[in-house]
Amino acid sequence: SANSRFSTATESSFNRRTPPRVPNLIGGAFVDSKSASTIDVINPATQEVVSQVPLTTNEEFKAAVAAAKQAFPSWRNTPITTRQRIMLKLQELIRRDMDKLAENITTEQGKTLKDAHGDVFRGLEVVEHSCGMATLQMGEYVPNVANGIDTYSVREPLGVCAGICPFNFPAMIPLWMFPVAVTCGNTFILKPSEKDPGASIMLAELAMEAGLPRGVLNIVHGTNDIVNAICDDDNIRAISFVGSNTAGMHIYGRACAKGKRVQSNMGAKNHGIVMPDSNKEATLNALLAAGFGAAGQRCMALSTVVFVGDSESWVNDLVERAKGLKVNAGVEPDADLGPVISKEAKERICRLVQSGVDGGAKLLLDGRNIVVPGYEKGNFIGPTILSGEEIFGPVLICMKADSLDDAINIVNRNKYGNGASIFTTSGAVARKFQTEIEAGQVGINVPIPVPLPFFSFTGSKASFAGDLNFYGKAGVNFFTQIKTVTQQWKDLPSGVSLAMPTSQ
Ligand code: NAD
Repeated sequence: SANSRFSTATESSFNRRTPPRVPNLIGGAFVDSKSASTIDVINPATQEVVSQVPLTTNEEFKAAVAAAKQAFPSWRNTPITTRQRIMLKLQELIRRDMDKLAENITTEQGKTLKDAHGDVFRGLEVVEHSCGMATLQMGEYVPNVANGIDTYSVREPLGVCAGICPFNFPAMIPLWMFPVAVTCGNTFILKPSEKDPGASIMLAELAMEAGLPRGVLNIVHGTNDIVNAICDDDNIRAISFVGSNTAGMHIYGRACAKGKRVQSNMGAKNHGIVMPDSNKEATLNALLAAGFGAAGQRCMALSTVVFVGDSESWVNDLVERAKGLKVNAGVEPDADLGPVISKEAKERICRLVQSGVDGGAKLLLDGRNIVVPGYEKGNFIGPTILSGEEIFGPVLICMKADSLDDAINIVNRNKYGNGASIFTTSGAVARKFQTEIEAGQVGINVPIPVPLPFFSFTGSKASFAGDLNFYGKAGVNFFTQIKTVTQQWKDLPSGVSLAMPTSQ
């Protein structure tokens, strides 16, 4: 299909292949990898092979790093206003191509077109935010710290930085990374998810069209080997990672041992607490959207609901409403939720549901055997709701608590700390929840409290490793280092004193 071709250079060898090969981007050129090993990118609604991702060779990886290193000196010396203007142009181009980007995401990732638009839009907001980078990275100045001496600090780029992406937000997460990094004056190596790399290529094409110079943004594809090469390469100063705990903690350990900065956003198990005084209608709708939107494949999805006291009886209404959700291919206009990413993911989810049932949980709604007409081969799972003890699985688990304290304890027992929400009309309850809950992103009558880019994405506990979070002020700090300058401009003193200088 037209959607699976890369517009970059239609005559290029990667486009002549069937299926097309996803190109690398090295030093401003979209190039076909010489590697003979590839991974199929599969449309999860149809099993059609959309394209093939190369396992980039070590030589090609080194060439990408060399290109980024070579581009750095002139890019860091490019005025910040010029760098901001490229972002201003990029946001315009992303808006222009929003539909194409969303279509590609639905083809490769499976989420509904409407949800795919949200994926792009949430990333676009980071590009918009990067347009104000000059203000965000302003330094500090104290005049006359001693007689004729001033001290000031400036934020400077690090050099070559890298980003490693997960499958679930093919546009938003690359856009969490490279716009902030490059507008701060760094050059970048992006490693998209091997499951859905198309959006990254389209975004890079737009960045080049917006005027990003050659070598400032590079893309290499692959899996574990290329990730390890990124961790080990001494020319790379910082790594942004988003994905699972297994990969994230491996990358954090390996790259930190090499002296790199790492920000690692990882897995989650987010809880929503429902108080009996909450607005029932709004709360149930919020739970459906946050539990089953994107087929539960959001790191801020609500996967467990804790009903406090009398709200427990709402479970039946939740099940009834979940039955009404339409499972279909993401391209179909009536789809509420699309397929999960792969056959393996579907098998894993079904296995977890079964182990919950075997462990005594009650299956209130079973979406495992769903068949979607016209898409019989798709990796579909309908909304599934379990009640009883907590089990680990990407389905909505409903639990009961006698009091708010019990509910808070249930949430805080879990090792993750990405997000947690409460639904209530009581300010006192909300305030207690906000204070005592051990999650980095708290929602009060808000099911998916992902902060906009002037704040940061602040997962905590096992959901994050590192010191400086993604985007917002922390994101700018992550991609810059402080230089503190002490200057003396006065008629210089005569004579020598070897005593420690003090400010008098
Ligand atoms: P994943 O960890 O399997 O893959 C992420 C990236 O790491 C990919 O680019 C992959 O090639 C690479 N990778 C995977 N295993 C590796 C290994 N052993 N060694 C080196 N590299 C490896 O994650 P995924 O399945 O693509 O994404 C889903 C996960 O991401 C979920 O756990 C979800 O909660 C999490 N996530 C978290 C956030 C957040 O902000 N906290 C956001 C989105 C997704």
